[in-house]
Amino acid sequence: MRTAIVGGGLAGAVLAWRLTELGLTPTVFISEQGRSADATQASGGLLRGFETDPAAARAAAESLAELRGSPLLRGWAGYRELDSTMVLPPDTDRSAVTAVLRLLDELLPGSAELRELPDLKAFLGLPPGAVAVVEQQAGYLSPAALRDALLEQAVRAGAVLRPEPVVRVLPEGTVRTAAGTGLDCDTVVLATGPWTPALLAAWGFPGGGLRVKQIQYTLGRGAPPGLGAFVDETSGLYGRPAGPGRFLLGLPTDRWGVDPAALRTDTELAQRVAGCAEARLGLDSWPGPDAVTVAAADCYAPSGGLRLRACLPGSPVLTFTGGTGGAAKYALGAGRSAAAALISGEILTEMGS
Ligand SMILES: Cc1cc2nc3c(=O)[nH]c(=O)nc-3n(C[C@H](O)[C@H](O)[C@H](O)COP(=O)(O)OP(=O)(O)OC[C@H]3O[C@@H](n4cnc5c(N)ncnc54)[C@H](O)[C@@H]3O)c2cc1C
Repeated sequence: MRTAIVGGGLAGAVLAWRLTELGLTPTVFISEQGRSADATQASGGLLRGFETDPAAARAAAESLAELRGSPLLRGWAGYRELDSTMVLPPDTDRSAVTAVLRLLDELLPGSAELRELPDLKAFLGLPPGAVAVVEQQAGYLSPAALRDALLEQAVRAGAVLRPEPVVRVLPEGTVRTAAGTGLDCDTVVLATGPWTPALLAAWGFPGGGLRVKQIQYTLGRGAPPGLGAFVDETSGLYGRPAGPGRFLLGLPTDRWGVDPAALRTDTELAQRVAGCAEARLGLDSWPGPDAVTVAAADCYAPSGGLRLRACLPGSPVLTFTGGTGGAAKYALGAGRSAAAALISGEILTEMGS
């Protein structure tokens, strides 16, 4: 099967590697320029198993369990273990949380537990009735390091890396590159992350509800004592330690439809993060004078996150994108499912679903 993957972010890399594990030797087209500003390069790499949605929790926990169980993967990804706290609002359905905790216990035994407000001393001013899921076996990785290692492994196993941006993909599976070459393929997978909606529109494919949103965080000086990685669903604040005396903090943005190659830092949002850091974590001098704010974009799917989607019924052109701001957590599992589906020919998801 002649398979082309367009895009060498984490999605393209993990799919290429999984395909070589199954005996295929895909051709991966990458854009060196795009790689330095893609979602994978900027990603904070936060990992945890818990999600309120059971399917998302299973996907994240399976990937985390695979990573934790493999010294090779841990080394490639620069994995660091940290506990992770997810603060949930007072109106959270506790029986649904308990069901997800039972699921996590199968995949990451003993890792996660529910804690009540009096035990959440790192956080100030949480609303009464807030609870948190605390996981011991969580942490973060370097998505960029993992991508580089997976591409290297894929090439060793026979995949071909072509540093040529793709300028056109035709519905019957022909790939045309900026260097003027063409390649006829049985399957073409667009793993082009936040570039995907614009490329689909330019090449005449339906957009399938895929959208692009900016994500932004700041690396600053100062750290709340004893706090690992966290997401506070009551304020939107999230973060993790980022080296000695430094902490990464962010809030969600509302910048939809941005061009991933031409992003502007949202300075008003960066100021709100500093205000939230003081109010929620008591960090009154974070981020400090040598702070760095990072802005990048990710591709958001209407549902289902990172997975294979057929662009047109019967067409050999598919997308493997839709990380929705969180695919570093479950890319390993998503890549395995996508590779198996490509081999079996069972692509169950159409664009837009
Ligand atoms: C700032 C930020 C922080 C994040 N933090 C977390 C986190 O803490 N935890 C978590 O789980 N997830 C996080 N994510 C999400 C996760 O990192 C992304 O979902 C994932 O990296 C997306 O990978 P991708 O390969 O789909 O996209 P990308 O990494 O953007 O890769 C797409 C690639 O396609 C290439 N490309 C585009 N067009 C062409 C073309 N025509 N020809 C050839 N190549 C092309 C680009 O150059 C690029 O390299 C974060 C994302 C961002 C942006």
